[in-house]
Amino acid sequence: MKFQDYRIDNDIKRSIAKMGYKKPTDIQYKSIPPILRGEDVLAIAQTGTGKTAAYAIPILHLLQEGILRGKSRGIKCLVMAPTHELAQQIEMVFKELGKYTRVKIFSIHGGVDQDPQKEKLAKGVDVLVATPGRMFDLVSQGDLNLSKVETLVLDEADHMLDLGFIKDIRDLVKHLPRKRQTLFFSATIDDKIKKIAYSLVRNAIRIQISPKDPVAKNIEHSVAFIEMDDKRFFLEYLLKSNAEKKVLVFVRTKVRAERVKKAMGRVGVTTDTIHSDKLQQEREIIMSSFRNSTLKVLIATDVSARGIDIPNVEYVVNYDLPETSEYYVHRVGRTGRGSQKGQAVSFCAKEERDLLLQIEENLGKPIHRIEISKREYAITMQMTNENDYDWRKVIDEIEKEDIAYTNRKKKKRKR
Ligand code: AMP
Repeated sequence: MKFQDYRIDNDIKRSIAKMGYKKPTDIQYKSIPPILRGEDVLAIAQTGTGKTAAYAIPILHLLQEGILRGKSRGIKCLVMAPTHELAQQIEMVFKELGKYTRVKIFSIHGGVDQDPQKEKLAKGVDVLVATPGRMFDLVSQGDLNLSKVETLVLDEADHMLDLGFIKDIRDLVKHLPRKRQTLFFSATIDDKIKKIAYSLVRNAIRIQISPKDPVAKNIEHSVAFIEMDDKRFFLEYLLKSNAEKKVLVFVRTKVRAERVKKAMGRVGVTTDTIHSDKLQQEREIIMSSFRNSTLKVLIATDVSARGIDIPNVEYVVNYDLPETSEYYVHRVGRTGRGSQKGQAVSFCAKEERDLLLQIEENLGKPIHRIEISKREYAITMQMTNENDYDWRKVIDEIEKEDIAYTNRKKKKRKR
C-alpha cells in the first residue's frame, strides 16, 4: 500500500511525498488506521522504525479535518518525550509533515527561558510536544491548559520510566480529560512498563515491531580487537581515512568523551562532544552543526544520544562497547536510517570481551570480526601524528637544551 492510497488530507500527502516517503514502514502500516479510528494504541517499536510519523500523520490529519470544520482550537494533542533532543526532533517531524496544514505545532523543554514559551502558548498551539519537567512548571503556574487534550502520546515511555518520570506521568493524567485517545510507544516491554501502559490505555490495539535481526539489514557492523590504550590511534586512523564521512563515536562516560576529543585534537582531527554536562544551548549548536555536516565527528554518550535522529550518519564507532545489547542496537541504528546504507565498528579491548559475548548472545548471532594482523596493528600505531608530535617536541627540547648548553659554555669561556 502506498501513502497515496490512504484516506488522509492531501496537504499531508504532499509533504509526505516531499520528504521522500513512498511506502509506509511496518509500524506506520499497523498504527495509522487504528489511530485514525480514534483507538488507543500500545506499540513496541524502536527509533529508526519510522514511529514518529506513525502517530504524527494520523494526528495531523484528524486535527486538520477539525480545523477545516471550524472546531474550537486549543492544545488537542500532547506528546510527552523524555529528553530535549527527542522533543525537538518530534516537533521537527510534525512541522515538516504539517507544513501545508493549518495545524500549529510547538515544543517546550527545560534549560531555556520560560517567557518566550509562554508567549507562544498564549498565541495558540494545537500540538504540544513536551518534556515532563517544564510542562509541570507551566501547568502549576497556570500558563498551560491541558483541559482540551484529545490525544496523549507517550513516546519512549520506557526511557521516561528509566529517568524516574513515572510519578509525573501519573500526575499528568489528572490534568487531562478522562475521555481521550492514548498512544503509548516504547522501545522495550517488561512487567513495569506493561503495568503503567495498561493503567493509561483502554482496549488498546497492541502493535509489536520486533524484527528477527534487531540490526537492520542495510547496516554492516563489525568488531575489531584493540587494546584500551591503543584505541585512540585506531580512531585517528579511521577518522583520517574517512575524512568525508559523518561519524558518530560512542563512549561510555562524559569524561571519556572529553578525553577522546582532546586526543583527536592533538592529532589534528576536529570533533565535538555531546553529554549531560553540556548546556542546552551548547547542545543545540553542536547538534545543528552535526546535522548540517559542518561538524563531521560527534562523540556521544548513550544517554545523550538516545532517540536522536541525525540524517546521513555514515559511520558509527563504538569506541567503548555498550553495556547492553539494547544500547548496541540503538547505537548502530544511528546509521543506515530509512533505506540508506550504514557502517558500524566496535573497538573491543581484552577487558570488554565478556560484554561482547553477552551482546552477541542477545543478538542471537556473532558480530563479524575484523582480523587485524600484528603487522597491520603495528603499522596503524606508527601512523599516528601523536608520535610525530612527540618526536618533534623531543627534538625541539633537545635543540633548546643544546643551545642553552653551548651558550653556558661560551659564557664560561669568556670568563
Ligand atoms: P523514527 O523512528 O521516527 O526516528 O524515524 C526514523 C527515520 O525513518 C527518520 O529519518 C524518518 O525520516 C525515516 N522515515 C520515517 N518514515 C519513513 C517512510 N515511510 N519511508 C522512508 N523513511 C521513513
